[in-house]
Amino acid sequence: MATDCLFCKIVAGEVPSTEVYSDEHTYAFQDVNPQAPTHVLIVPREHYADVVDLGRDAGAAAGLIAGIGGLAEKLGLEHFRTVLNTGSEVGQSVFHVHAHVLAGRPMGWPPG
Ligand code: 5GP
Ligand code: ZN
Repeated sequence: MATDCLFCKIVAGEVPSTEVYSDEHTYAFQDVNPQAPTHVLIVPREHYADVVDLGRDAGAAAGLIAGIGGLAEKLGLEHFRTVLNTGSEVGQSVFHVHAHVLAGRPMGWPPG
């Protein structure tokens, strides 16, 4: 655990969150500032800074994808968007890799 990482603290239960889904490798919780009717963040239980860091560990990367699938099945989502921001210029503000899972409203493509 990275001691100064917000999402490590959420996984550890040291910072409160609203759990949506959980499995061996991942933890998913409501985003505090939702951008869609469904806006869930899903994170690996272990600390990786971003998707590039995560991708160096193929097993952990597969765990996150499997978690997204499990989350979607639990919520009954058939149409949803998954976003992994990488770097502050595109909006990454918490440097523990997290996938945004968004659903419940029309979403254009390409994104703005
Ligand atoms: P990023 O901008 O790094 O891609 O996404 C970070 C997300 O974390 C944002 O959507 C923000 O609303 C959410 N967030 C920031 N702090 C907290 C918090 O303390 N609790 C929860 N549940 N979400 C948070
Ligand atoms: Zn962390």
